[in-house]
Amino acid sequence: MDLFGQMMYAPLQLSSLLEQAARHSGAVEIVSRRVEGDIHRYTYRDCHVRAMKLANALTGRGIVAGDRVGTLAWNGYRHIELYYGVTGIGAVCHTINPRLFPEQIAYIVNHARDRVVCFDASFLALVEQIAPHCPHVEAWVMLSDAAGLPQASALPLESYEALIAGQPAHFDWPRLDEQLAAVLCYTSGTTGNPKGVLYSHRSLCLMAYASSLPDALCLRASDTVVPVVPMFHVNAWGLPFSAPLVGAKLVLPGPALDGASLSALFEQEAVTLSAGVPTVWLGLVDHMRRTGKRAGTLQRVIVGGAACPPQLATALGELGITAVHAWGMTELSPVGTVFAPTQGFARKTAQERAQIEAKQGRVVPGVEMKIVGADGAELPWDGRSAGDLLVRGHWVVERYYGMNETCLSPDGWFATGDVATIDADGYMQITDRSKDVIKSGGEWISSIELEGIAVAHPEVELAACIACAHPKWDERPLLVVVRRAGSTLDARQLLSFYEGKVAKWWIPDDVVFVPELPLTATGKLHKLVLRQQFGRHYSDTGTAA
Ligand code: AMP
Repeated sequence: MDLFGQMMYAPLQLSSLLEQAARHSGAVEIVSRRVEGDIHRYTYRDCHVRAMKLANALTGRGIVAGDRVGTLAWNGYRHIELYYGVTGIGAVCHTINPRLFPEQIAYIVNHARDRVVCFDASFLALVEQIAPHCPHVEAWVMLSDAAGLPQASALPLESYEALIAGQPAHFDWPRLDEQLAAVLCYTSGTTGNPKGVLYSHRSLCLMAYASSLPDALCLRASDTVVPVVPMFHVNAWGLPFSAPLVGAKLVLPGPALDGASLSALFEQEAVTLSAGVPTVWLGLVDHMRRTGKRAGTLQRVIVGGAACPPQLATALGELGITAVHAWGMTELSPVGTVFAPTQGFARKTAQERAQIEAKQGRVVPGVEMKIVGADGAELPWDGRSAGDLLVRGHWVVERYYGMNETCLSPDGWFATGDVATIDADGYMQITDRSKDVIKSGGEWISSIELEGIAVAHPEVELAACIACAHPKWDERPLLVVVRRAGSTLDARQLLSFYEGKVAKWWIPDDVVFVPELPLTATGKLHKLVLRQQFGRHYSDTGTAA
């Protein structure tokens, strides 16, 4: 007969994370820079009370478990309240990326069947544009007080403060099935319609626990954390859940993500840890260098969402800030791997350590990974063999929202669409997205590595490397580059910069200089657009000969 453990059972549910923070770290602050530009500060205890008021308000409006409530908002305290107030009643917080095209936003609001959409004042024009195309939305709630509502609008707008005003300050969070849906986030798919990933209470709680570990994001109660990564893109890497879990102070930067604004906020709030994409850190480094600032209290920044160019890690290091490289994706809630030193790391040379730190890191426990070749057979962990990266684990998608079929392989793995190597110590390195791979004469060339070298050139601001059709080699790499202001760098000078850094046949055959590079809604290089524009460059220009 089965013998069960005789321990308390409490479902893993998000409301317990905020309850925990309110009870045990109640006086710790959540500080927000608001859309209006001013600073708002309150505590986890206050946040919990307002999340309970919101839960009462939503329940009073007939929002029930399983309903979707959309958010179009920057990182701020009201957005945190929505994360908890909505999910706490068993409804689903659907975070929407405002950088998508309006048609895509309308598509996902309709696909998700959002009943209510809450939005920052700065997205009013966007909301007015999409609302006529979203017939199922019953209420558009502006994240402001009543006085902040526009004088005239074609929409019957409500203010968030009016919605929660007068509501009871207590709400008994219902005991939920931990497998219930909590948050919905759509991928920014560069082709086809965005696909929804529906996270459960259980998957988000487990990711919050595991990603806080010392060998992951290493979050502590003594930390002051700034998620620069937006709350509308994959749960801001889980920080709105993991910071309350450990009782860390949370600082939310609103829409001001430029180097000067971030640096001022970091200094003012004595921030110790932050997380964001490489372009954010390039902006910060630029600002700090120009103004002669040093790290101050800021110890670590997590760099993810796109490859961290080695020279960025070096530049941050020179300012006294440790760059911690991490990898993840929407389908992974998103945290998959983070750099952490293993046994023997300290005994390696400085150069060996830098090479390892440039990789995307080791898996966070709770996720497993492997790489496979074209035949599906597992490849060795030798740091050289590159193959399709597959993952499985507690916070990995099983099927997209609204789909009947699983998106996993028959043996239960999720194909990430990334190509990677894994070394003997378990450090994974992304060499490309599978659709961005450059195959020259049957051999793979890593576009990420070539981009990393280009941006290390002092006169290069931004670089993308794409596969370009070639009559002899099938494909050859082409660099598309934005020069720094005032630079007259030419193709020959930039290409000579590659000599000695990679094998000769990896060196791109040509460079195209452009004023700017197309980016996706999540701020990544839009290589599909570049391939459409420059994919025939070698045949068109005759460079191939
Ligand atoms: P998203 O779902 O929009 O967050 O995009 C996920 C994709 O971003 C991954 O599949 C990778 O291709 C890319 N990505 C995320 N983090 C990194 C990283 N540290 N290095 C290289 N690519 C990354």
